[in-house]
Amino acid sequence: CGIVGILGKGPVAGQIVEALKRLEYRGYDSAGVATLENGRLTRLRASGKLKNLEEKLAAAPLYGAIGIGHTRWATHGRPTENNAHPHANDRVAVVHNGIIENFRELRAELAAKGHVFTTETDSEAVAHLVAEELRDGATPEKAVAAALKRLKGAFALAFLFEGEEDLLIGARRGSPLAVGWSDEGAYLGSDALALAPFATSIAYLEEGDWVTLTREKTTFHDADDNIVERRRQPLQSGSFL
Ligand code: GLU
Repeated sequence: CGIVGILGKGPVAGQIVEALKRLEYRGYDSAGVATLENGRLTRLRASGKLKNLEEKLAAAPLYGAIGIGHTRWATHGRPTENNAHPHANDRVAVVHNGIIENFRELRAELAAKGHVFTTETDSEAVAHLVAEELRDGATPEKAVAAALKRLKGAFALAFLFEGEEDLLIGARRGSPLAVGWSDEGAYLGSDALALAPFATSIAYLEEGDWVTLTREKTTFHDADDNIVERRRQPLQSGSFL
């Protein structure tokens, strides 16, 4: 029920968990983090409290300097570790808030194309849908833009791509998503509260927007894929947030 993404300078898993803690108030039943280590997707997930995920991370740290994290409030599929986000395949990892209404249809279509589903969630269809586009030769940007057009429902999404050490993509339809910036990196989060310890400025995606983030540059797109500007405002860390 909460999303975080961080493009940092050093290992980001600890910061991701810290940001997820600030989204605890939304309620959750499981949590997970994915990072890239030498370009390879690595992830850890745990059912129950964030403490369980923290313990797992302490035992087997993730070292990536780019990553995404999630707290889940299960709507489709039991609150097990295996159903926890991020969902991943050999191409992409995704975290999702909300509901993909047409996931059964997508799942059947993608399974017929050889994609192997390993969870009971609606969200996993998004990972395979994007992977299918990538397999067809699309860039990550094009793959996400094409996938978004196939999705029905309400969601916020964040994507991390195998081999892409300087790229996060976020999308918003019906669930809020914010982008944050600091000298240390760029951030995605469900709300300003999650990003307050890290970001010094922030902007909100508007309904239907998707955004590409690198450490140097952020590009907002509207639902028709036009490049758009979104208002950036200062965020005071240590403020009431
Ligand atoms: N529908 C997704 C699931 O059940 C996401 C739920 C959420 O917003 O946390 O896994």
